[in-house]
Amino acid sequence: MRKKIVAGNWKMNNNLSETNELIAGLKNEMNSITLENTRVVIAPSFVNLQQAVVETKESSIEVSAQNLHQAKNGAYTGEISADMLASIGVDIVILGHSERRAYFNETDESLAEKVTTAIENGFDVIFCFGEQLEEREAENHFNVVESQLKNALFELSADAFDKIILAYEPVWAIGTGKTASADQAQEMHAFIRSLLAKAYNTELADSVSILYGGSVKPANAKEIFSKPDVDGGLIGGASLKAKDFSEIVKSI
Ligand code: PEP
Repeated sequence: MRKKIVAGNWKMNNNLSETNELIAGLKNEMNSITLENTRVVIAPSFVNLQQAVVETKESSIEVSAQNLHQAKNGAYTGEISADMLASIGVDIVILGHSERRAYFNETDESLAEKVTTAIENGFDVIFCFGEQLEEREAENHFNVVESQLKNALFELSADAFDKIILAYEPVWAIGTGKTASADQAQEMHAFIRSLLAKAYNTELADSVSILYGGSVKPANAKEIFSKPDVDGGLIGGASLKAKDFSEIVKSI
């Protein structure tokens, strides 16, 4: 059975004491939640990852990085390697977020390299993709998503998909307060599963968790998560408040 997952992308928010405070709040909220077949993940900034690993040790909360560099090591000033992350106990990474694509020029090609590095180092990858507003308005969203997945992921072996979590995030819904309707999310998620079935097989397609991301809040999470091909969410803004994030976890 594929896993349900709620992941919080903290982006460039929370200094050390705010990180401690938010984790303490989350642990407190999570005490009253019974999780079945569900993973809860938080992705603090690089500098606070080690602290987050320590603070979540006795809890069911897992810690993810927001990025990694594809090279093993070397002259890449300011970058972080898979080995560095693994050495502090992090083995999940978000790759391909639309903000990294837009502001840091990440392409399908560089993302394919990052995914390969992550998989080779034993990481789970939360791979983000999704269309821009103009692409949806031009009814080109299915083509865009298909090419993002083909270019970045479909050279991987079937086995590698044990470590891949897909996060469909229509760019027009990220941080905008505009959410794709539950039906729009379901339609795209079913399409993504059909692509996986075509590129690999139906068993693999049924086993991959596909998250929806884009202005998920306590008020809309239940409806979105009720759709059969939506296995959870990647949450931005609402993951910065313990109460909101745990309400979203309860909706799964
Ligand atoms: C995100 O950044 O991945 C995201 C989904 O953000 P928000 O929930 O704020 O739209």
